[in-house]
Amino acid sequence: MNLVFLGPPGSGKGTQAIRLAEKVGLVHLSTGDVLRAAVKVGTELGKKAEGFMTRGELVPDDLIICLIEEKVASGDLKSGFILDGFPRTMPQAESLTDMFTKNKIGLDKAILLDVGDAEILKRLKGRAEIEGRADDTEDVIKNRLEVYRKQTQPIEDYYRGQSILVAIEGEGTPDAIFERILKVAG
Ligand code: AMP
Repeated sequence: MNLVFLGPPGSGKGTQAIRLAEKVGLVHLSTGDVLRAAVKVGTELGKKAEGFMTRGELVPDDLIICLIEEKVASGDLKSGFILDGFPRTMPQAESLTDMFTKNKIGLDKAILLDVGDAEILKRLKGRAEIEGRADDTEDVIKNRLEVYRKQTQPIEDYYRGQSILVAIEGEGTPDAIFERILKVAG
């Protein structure tokens, strides 16, 4: 099974994607995690990405698309995967479709965790206190939400048009949300 997880920052998609990947035995690939690790180690990618991330902006498409191309070419995704945090723009979504076509990989579902803005702001402020992520300050959170609505939300329609979008109510307890996800992807 090959899945893409979509949802605004703070929708819980990272947590739920990890949980589902463990439960059904899929590779979990989070571009945010890869980038944060690159920043920490100070690789070329990390140096280029850091400023965008701390401002809550998206890292340029070419950098991210390269990263995913390498993963696809490595064969790591062969036995099923969850992409978490990618694609985030229409050019990324279209490149992904091309990569999959060339490599004969099928995308089964794009799972959208639907959460309203008020709940998102509440959750991200909580996460800022607990994890101290550099991009969880109030201004940056608002920027990331705006970026999501403008640049990432159009992807929902793209996958809806391919009849693979599944929207899941993303409010409630993490366990209740996970049960909903299992019903469509378990
Ligand atoms: P995340 O952990 O998915 O919320 O990602 C954290 C940050 O990493 C984002 O705010 C972006 O700056 C960057 N990022 C992660 N994935 C992507 C992507 N697919 N395209 C562009 N930037 C990304």
